[in-house]
Amino acid sequence: MEEAPLQKLEDKLLQAQGVELWVKREDLLHPHISGNKWRKLKYNLQEAQRQNHQTILTFGGAYSNHIAATAAAGKEYGFKTIGIIRGEEHLPLNPTLSFATSCGMQLHYITREKYKLKNDPAFLEELLLQFGQVYLLPEGGTNLLAVKGCTEIVHDISIKYDYICCAMGTGGTFAGIVASLAGKQQALGFPALKGGEFLKQETEELVLGYSGQSYSNWQLITDYHFGGYAKVKPELLAFMESFRRQHYIRLEPVYTGKMMYGLFDLIGQGYFARGSRVVAVHTGGLQGNAGFQERLGLQV
Ligand SMILES: *Cc1c(COP(=O)(O)O)cnc(C)c1O
Repeated sequence: MEEAPLQKLEDKLLQAQGVELWVKREDLLHPHISGNKWRKLKYNLQEAQRQNHQTILTFGGAYSNHIAATAAAGKEYGFKTIGIIRGEEHLPLNPTLSFATSCGMQLHYITREKYKLKNDPAFLEELLLQFGQVYLLPEGGTNLLAVKGCTEIVHDISIKYDYICCAMGTGGTFAGIVASLAGKQQALGFPALKGGEFLKQETEELVLGYSGQSYSNWQLITDYHFGGYAKVKPELLAFMESFRRQHYIRLEPVYTGKMMYGLFDLIGQGYFARGSRVVAVHTGGLQGNAGFQERLGLQV
């Protein structure tokens, strides 16, 4: 595994507000098993191996970073992989699914209705009957072993800081960060979906499940969803583009772009006291940009 270095950003706004911002480059961990998805897979792969499974079955949308990461991990670590994909097949395959199949992942499409049953025990039993003995990995790869893997994002940070920020989908990554802080510093989670308040309870349950503890040094910032999951607005894309030109760091519009936009907005509002040091986790996910380019003609 590669290193995920810390990169300090230089910016007029940061200087004016007296805030230091460091980016934890989880996007550089692995060329194909991106960022937090690698952290989430690590102990699950070990567990699958320990249980003598040859096949990993998981779930995701057609542009899912988790599907791409699982396919790449299966190829690298010698597992067969099966992806249960939400919705109908569209040919030619989009860049995410085409990458996944090139890694050997077998794709099975199910209706959006059926996909809602992804955590239902009867449905999972049905899948086991259909596919045989497989290691089941939930959507987004989130379970307690994933939380364990994500605690290592924090262990890896060698500087002192006051805040750590992370984008949220299922909340597994953020839960790992919160569990790892063990009450120190402040953690801010930025849901990528509209109505992200529900992630408060998810986070609480995951943190409690993993560590047996509850903490209060964290909160969710739910105002930067830009209309919903995978929705984009011109100002978000403009922000990402200027960020890339200034800092030579690519973001993607689903998670990291929204978090970074929100973070700069908060900094501009004086949310952080002068002298604060903030770490923003770049969770990766850049494979998804190819799909955006194709669907919307966007240059991201
Ligand atoms: C999946 C993903 C997230 C969200 O992770 P969760 O653990 O599901 O909250 C954040 N950023 C990127 C780039 C992702 O791919």
